[in-house]
Amino acid sequence: MYSDTQTRPSSAMRKAMAEAEVGDEQRFEDPQVTLLCERVAELLGMEAAVFLPSGTMCNEIAFRLHIRPGGDEAILHRTSHPIIAEAGGPAAFAGAMMQPLDTPRGMFTGEDVRGALRYPDRYSPRSRLVSVEQSTNMAGGRVWPLSQLRGVVDVAHEHGLRLHMDGARLMNAVVASGVPAAEMTRGFDTAWLDFTKGLGAPLGAVLAGSASLIDEAWRYKQMLGGALRQAGIVAAGALYALDHNVDRLAEDHAHARVLAEGLASLDGVTLDPGEIETNIVIFEVDDPDALCAGIERHGVRMGAVGPRSVRAVTHLDVDAEGIQHAIEAVRQVLES
Ligand SMILES: *Cc1c(COP(=O)(O)O)cnc(C)c1O
Repeated sequence: MYSDTQTRPSSAMRKAMAEAEVGDEQRFEDPQVTLLCERVAELLGMEAAVFLPSGTMCNEIAFRLHIRPGGDEAILHRTSHPIIAEAGGPAAFAGAMMQPLDTPRGMFTGEDVRGALRYPDRYSPRSRLVSVEQSTNMAGGRVWPLSQLRGVVDVAHEHGLRLHMDGARLMNAVVASGVPAAEMTRGFDTAWLDFTKGLGAPLGAVLAGSASLIDEAWRYKQMLGGALRQAGIVAAGALYALDHNVDRLAEDHAHARVLAEGLASLDGVTLDPGEIETNIVIFEVDDPDALCAGIERHGVRMGAVGPRSVRAVTHLDVDAEGIQHAIEAVRQVLES
């Protein structure tokens, strides 16, 4: 349970992949890739989309699309993936200056963005991009309410800023809130979906935006070596995921609530189960490393993600029995 990246392709998904009709993706001749891009563009309410090997490449290319080297600044949460987990890519690849926000729960408001804007003079970096993570990863799978997204979009537009949505777990947010994906992405210039998290495919992500931005994204896909060939083998897995693995994310969310309630009842755990909205449970203990090492001996893996924090993530390879087993493992280790 240390991440929902642990999902493995099911036999039905593998069958769909094995039987996929394929072609050269770089020549737009792979029918699975073409279909996948069309479906994701429509789902996200965008004109066009491009298939990429990973979510990280979606973020990196999007930052490169929006940021011009020369002092452009991105406003985003301090715990967001481009800051903590992309090897400094936005600085190296886009030349981005990053302004991390320290607002609660991995989310911020339009007023927070307003407060972060630079004065437009020659001394200041140029405010250029706002990036949000839906759902929040390291803040515990929180779902940005639609009104809060709209507030951020309004302030960004008022000041001519671009908007990017990291949708690694966007479908978790959609299933949890009942708000359609295209409503959440409204006003954003780029947004993407990851197929390797809860959706259960082995690799692949799709970045969507206007036709002109996606044309330009293809240059960077080429530059990074992300232009592929018979990628339909993997795109077929992603298409299978869209058809079969979206609604079932609700099960992962239910499992996360059961896990959170079970953990919260243990001595030595600090956690408010009412905070759990999707598939991520972050809780506090005195010694996260010792707990994680201890439960591993019971066959349970969670991640120590801070001096007091442990993260557990539910996904399609964790069932109700596994949740009970995990709670019991944590109980035994804490008691010993
Ligand atoms: C996993 C993740 C990414 C990166 O996706 P990869 O497909 O693993 O490269 C980006 N943003 C968030 C919020 C993530 O959780």
